[in-house]
Amino acid sequence: MNVVAKLKKELIEAGRRAYQRGIQTGNGGNISARIPGTELMIVKASGVSFIDCTEENLLICDFAGDLVEGNLKPTREALLHGALYAKLPHVGAVVHTHSVWSILWSMSGSSAIPLVTQHAHLKIGTPIPILSFATPVVPKEHMPEVLSLFDQHPNLPAFVLKEHGVVAVGPNALEAEHNAEFVEETAQIGWLHQLAAGRC
Ligand SMILES: [Zn+2]
Repeated sequence: MNVVAKLKKELIEAGRRAYQRGIQTGNGGNISARIPGTELMIVKASGVSFIDCTEENLLICDFAGDLVEGNLKPTREALLHGALYAKLPHVGAVVHTHSVWSILWSMSGSSAIPLVTQHAHLKIGTPIPILSFATPVVPKEHMPEVLSLFDQHPNLPAFVLKEHGVVAVGPNALEAEHNAEFVEETAQIGWLHQLAAGRC
């Protein structure tokens, strides 16, 4: 199996897992993988559900988000994915999900999702930052703000877009997807804890 076919297989598996775990429903969210040794990435086509990803609707784009191979329209967040690959050589995949508990936290007025469990301290190490942009797609002019998060925390596994969702990174698609799940789990525990304590 060639590299692109292998990466697509991993993306299909990660997309299916995210959908089945319920961290992405419908046809929202997006997912991608870097093609090693190139300035190219494989991204999901716009409007395709995570559960319906196939070799045909996973497209090849450059880091500017322009289509290189495929017949569909790339995800609207292709520019964000490309900017992350260009800045972060250790990142092999990006998983962006519209996950309920994380979005709820992002609307609480906090600047980060707190690390409420021992496991979160161990695996993430820093509260998960929340960025606020006025548009449903991260605009090019705000990319430096996104990338500066990684200057402060080079191994940051994820951040959250306010009223929007989780952006998780990892060395491969499954690990990025696991990071997205972990952020959502942390957000859920934190939110329920606040609720139980009568703080929200
Ligand atoms: Zn989104």
